[in-house]
Amino acid sequence: MLPLEFGNSSRATRHTARLRMIAGKQAVGTYVVTFDGGDRQTLSLTLAQAEGFECLTCKALCGKGSAAFRPVGVAAGQNQVFRCVSCLDGIGRGGRDA
Ligand SMILES: [Zn+2]
Repeated sequence: MLPLEFGNSSRATRHTARLRMIAGKQAVGTYVVTFDGGDRQTLSLTLAQAEGFECLTCKALCGKGSAAFRPVGVAAGQNQVFRCVSCLDGIGRGGRDA
């Protein structure tokens, strides 16, 4: 469990609540991901990745700057999934898997 001693700031409380929620979504499953280009791949993802809370590639949490996310496709036919811009920048043309 994550510590809750972040003071009384509601922003910190919300951040902690989000981290706890994501920490509860680390079970790995197999998901069919349909990428925006029409590509379909079966991937092992955490629930947090499959629900769009973590980068598909590096599992970074959605944030700002280099951790900003872009939607890349849909998992299990319903959940939008994302990659952070630093992964997207690193992939370049042709893609890069594992
Ligand atoms: Zn990433």
